[in-house]
Formats: sequence, C-alpha cells, structure tokens
Amino acid sequence: MSTTIGILGGGQLARMLALAGAPLGLRYRVMDSSTDACAGQFVPMQVGDYRDEAALAAFADAVDVATFDFENVPAESAEWLAQRVPVFPNPRALALTQDRLAEKSLFVELGIPVPPFVDVDSRDALQAAVDRIGAPAILKTRRLGYDGKGQFRLRSNDDVDAAWEALGAQASTVGLILEGFVRFERELSVVAVRGRDGEFRHWPLTENWHVDGVLSASLAPAHVDDALTAKAVAHARAIAESLDYVGVFALELFCRNGELLANEMAPRVHNSGHWSIEGAETSQFENHLRAVLGLPLGSTRMVGQACMLNWIGELPEAAPILREAGGHWHDYGKSSRPGRKVGHATLRADSTAELAESLHCVGEALSREAQVAPVIQVLKGSS
Ligand code: AMP
Repeated sequence: MSTTIGILGGGQLARMLALAGAPLGLRYRVMDSSTDACAGQFVPMQVGDYRDEAALAAFADAVDVATFDFENVPAESAEWLAQRVPVFPNPRALALTQDRLAEKSLFVELGIPVPPFVDVDSRDALQAAVDRIGAPAILKTRRLGYDGKGQFRLRSNDDVDAAWEALGAQASTVGLILEGFVRFERELSVVAVRGRDGEFRHWPLTENWHVDGVLSASLAPAHVDDALTAKAVAHARAIAESLDYVGVFALELFCRNGELLANEMAPRVHNSGHWSIEGAETSQFENHLRAVLGLPLGSTRMVGQACMLNWIGELPEAAPILREAGGHWHDYGKSSRPGRKVGHATLRADSTAELAESLHCVGEALSREAQVAPVIQVLKGSS
C-alpha cells in the first residue's frame, strides 16, 4: 500500500506538491473549501470546511500524514487533526506564523533584527504607534493577510484617519500591527527545509521583486556576498530549530545598507522557491514531501541559474517561454481574475549572461519589459 499524503488547501502549491511526489509513488487527498481548487483537477479532493470535525475525521481516516498548502487553516483544526494523524509542520509552528505579532516577537527573542513594530488595538493606539515609529509606516492585519492584502501604507501622520477607516474594523477580529516602512535596497528570501530528524538544508538565497505587494519575479542565486547569505541562513535555521519545524518554509528578508531585517516566515513551500523545480537538484516540493515522510532530504544544489516570472491575473502567451532553451511553463489550471496567481515560468541558464539574454527575449516577446528589467539589471551588474 502506498503512502497517502493529506494536504489542507488545494491551490497551486498542493498541485505542485502532488506533481513532485508522483515519481515517489505517493498518493494524495486534498481538502479545500472550494469546489474549483486547482489541485482537484488531478488529485482526489474532498470539499469541506476546515472547522467541520466530521469532515476532518474523514480526511484523517484517508491519509497517513497531513501537511498544508495554506497557512491560514485554523490552528485548532490542525491541533485536532494532529491527535489523529502526524501533521507537519506542527500546529504550534503554524499558529505562531499565523500571527504577525507573535512571529515578530519570536524573531526578536532569537536576536533576529526586524523593522520597528507596535501592536494596535484602537484609533488612539494607532496614533501613539505612528508617533513612536514615525512615518512612513504600514498598518497590517495581524492575521489572515497575504500577498499585500490587509495592508495600508501611511505616508505621513495625516494618513492616520484613512488607515483607521480602512482597517480599524479589523482590530477586534484579526488584530492590527503597525510596522516601520523599510526603504530596502532588495528583498531576499531563504527557502529551507528541516527533516524529522532535525537535518537542515537550504537552497541558495533568492532575490525577489514585488508589485503591489505580490511577488513578480525571483532570481536564484541572489547576487549577494557569502557573509550575508550565512547570516540569512543562520536566522532561518534558528527559527526552524526553535519551532521544531519539519518541512519546507521561507523566511522573507529586507536588505537595507547591507543589513538584514526579517519581514515574515511562510510555513510552507513558497512562491520564491518555485524556480527550484527546474533550477535545483531537488525541488522545494519534493524535499517538503521527503521531510514530512521522514525520508532522506535531497541535495538543494542549484543547476545553473534561474529566474521565475509570476503570471498574475491572466496567462501570457506560452510560446516565447517554450522557445527558450531553458524555458519552463507552469499553468495552474485556474480561471483568469485580477490579482490571482494563475501560473509562472522559470528560465534556467548556465551563466548570468545567458539568463539575462533569455529574459530580454521573453520580456520583449511578451511586452513584459518592466517585469524583467530589474532582474536583468542585477544580472548585468555582476556578470
Ligand atoms: P507581506 O505581506 O508582509 O509579505 O508584504 C508584502 C510586500 O509588501 C513585501 O514583500 C514588501 O515588498 C512590502 N512590505 C511589507 N512590509 C513592509 C515594510 N515594513 N517596509 C517596506 N515594505 C514592506
């Protein structure tokens, strides 16, 4: 009997996990609240509410181990499930990363620098927080925010009313946090994996570009020095060990004046690690499965250099990507909708010059010059 992996959440991450585990002979059962979750196109899917114990019980009976493609599964549901079947990452890690305040407090405890932050529970508390941190700043929901949603940027003290108007109602439900706005030079992420036995591996550091709070492009390896990489990896490792974390996760970092500030941790495979499907010896998806199953972890060594381009809202034409020698196309099988992640492409090459050339061709063919330009600039700067 082959092993069945249960995945809570049936989006593109579950879909790519399923694809990665097929050669390992794995079977799956995905649970999602939506009937058209895209992993359900080729993986058995149970449509159900994560808070429904009967649905969770049926799910637990059908799987050998459970994991997530979605970090906002209620922590109590993860706890309930963990009493019936092994759940990785553990519910404590999931709960902590669901709350920006708890997460940042852990980073501080571990000596990891973060932007200034203050918990906000009222209009007066917001004013006091702005007085303390200064503007510009970002008001964020503590829970349930993703891809820049649930955020309001305050340019000056005059924006306090507008910020409260936009998010104040959520202070009593999901909580709010005010963060200092970081004028970073670059955004980086460490995608790493920790096994059931504590073995820790990481992929090369990735540089990321966001547009309107949503990831637009990722470049691996990031063009940073070894000392910065070592520091970023040490932070990721410290977090994973303190949470007894099992599986893949990403630590998002801002780099300002050569210093790293931690933004947040995603307790799952991450968009900034999608390039690893073609660009690394073992992808983040396969290593996540190996980790939760207690199998030996695969090498995270890169195969050349890689750039991932996200397709948001709708897919462009595939042919210009497919024409590239190192071009790889990923269509998540979703319908078009503004702001929705519907697919990505990875370009892989053996040198920075080749990768820059490939990006240039694709950018021109798809009229996406603005999306590829910052990546080409980094590649040209150090090729
Ligand atoms: P988040 O949902 O916290 O990952 O935020 C999404 C994106 O918004 C980040 O990747 C940054 O590009 C930007 N952002 C978030 N927080 C800050 C901050 N404190 N300072 C500057 N930019 C930020």
